[in-house]
Amino acid sequence: MHTQLSYWEYNRWLGPADVVVAGSGIVGLNAAIRLRQLRPNWRVVVAERGALPSGASTKNAGFACFGSITELADDLTHTSENELMALAERRLRGLSLLRTRLGDEAIEYEPLGGYELFETDESFAQYAQYIGRFNTLFKPFNGLQSTYINADEEIARFGLGGVKHLVKNVAEGQIHTGRMMEALIEKAKAAGVHIFTGLHITHFTETAHSLLLHTENGYEIQTQQLVVCTNGFGRQLLPELDVNPARAQVLITEPIENLRVKGSFHYDRGYYYFRNVGNRVLFGGGRNLDFAAETTTAHSLTPLVQNRLDELLQQVILPGTPHKVAMRWAGTMGLGGQKKPIVKQISPRVSCALRMGGMGVALGSLVGDEVAEMIVN
Ligand SMILES: Cc1cc2nc3c(=O)[nH]c(=O)nc-3n(C[C@H](O)[C@H](O)[C@H](O)COP(=O)(O)OP(=O)(O)OC[C@H]3O[C@@H](n4cnc5c(N)ncnc54)[C@H](O)[C@@H]3O)c2cc1C
Repeated sequence: MHTQLSYWEYNRWLGPADVVVAGSGIVGLNAAIRLRQLRPNWRVVVAERGALPSGASTKNAGFACFGSITELADDLTHTSENELMALAERRLRGLSLLRTRLGDEAIEYEPLGGYELFETDESFAQYAQYIGRFNTLFKPFNGLQSTYINADEEIARFGLGGVKHLVKNVAEGQIHTGRMMEALIEKAKAAGVHIFTGLHITHFTETAHSLLLHTENGYEIQTQQLVVCTNGFGRQLLPELDVNPARAQVLITEPIENLRVKGSFHYDRGYYYFRNVGNRVLFGGGRNLDFAAETTTAHSLTPLVQNRLDELLQQVILPGTPHKVAMRWAGTMGLGGQKKPIVKQISPRVSCALRMGGMGVALGSLVGDEVAEMIVN
């Protein structure tokens, strides 16, 4: 089906673009902003399939993190130290760009620190040796003598159950995800980016002098360049890419009087994560309970994961504290064989920036800039 645009629609909204960015998540919006900074005369359009950004950027936990000890140590089993630190450095630069581009106040950045929980002496002993090693590796990047420190004395303060050891990342913070995306959308609009929601690009065809994008509602949009920033949905437009959807399910409690949990927390090698949002607890994870079922773009919830979240909430995070779950939801991450993002030119008119590896709050701003600069150059 091809829906004919009116003259007015073509003239004001969906006429030929210089660049169309598919996806209005952190990456797509940053790419569009950077493109307008570099080429103020270009018509830059962001096409978003949902009424709101509908992947991960408005659904995440808001950890401004760059790697916990167990996660980094496990990565070292299949990645070289140089590659690992190159990616960690991109995460740090991305966080710094996010904060300077939008401002700490606008994103409600709070430097509360990040903590990793260990339930046994054995599990802690396995990773304790990495604390010194990663402190040495991070020092040139963040100037800190110790990024990671033992924080066992804080276990009681947080009221956590069944936790034997705690490692603190002093440089980790948290943001208000909704405020961040709101600020990013405003920034993009102020930069002259045209954002259209409800515009699902189903496929594209090349003509002699441009690309033709086809949308689910039957429009055809002409553009010189397409940038695919659809992360976990990437293979719908570019099937050859090494990126798969990974569903992440979360919950948030009702406000809790005198909540003791403050900061961001990583548990079970990063498969679970929780934080305070004011006086509520946001808690997510459990993808490892059934990797196959969670390799999906569906945003439905499963009893397997949600029941486990309920259990851990009661036993580990809020033991003895009465609480009620207020909301539950899911989002789509983009994972692949490697954690490194794919920032790549696919053909003369098509590029992509995706596969944020579950850390797009950190990487997204930088990766958006990277793909914009690649196109312009
Ligand atoms: C529950 C959850 C918790 C997370 N917690 C954290 C965290 O604490 N810290 C952290 O760093 N990261 C976290 N992440 C990951 C982080 O949110 C993502 O890495 C990041 O948001 C990815 O941004 P993106 O722009 O690449 O993709 P997305 O935000 O997924 O944006 C892609 C957009 O493309 C749109 N789209 C898809 N296909 C099409 C199409 N064909 N046409 C038009 N539009 C299309 C989608 O609707 C979507 O809005 C979490 C993710 C989830 C789901």
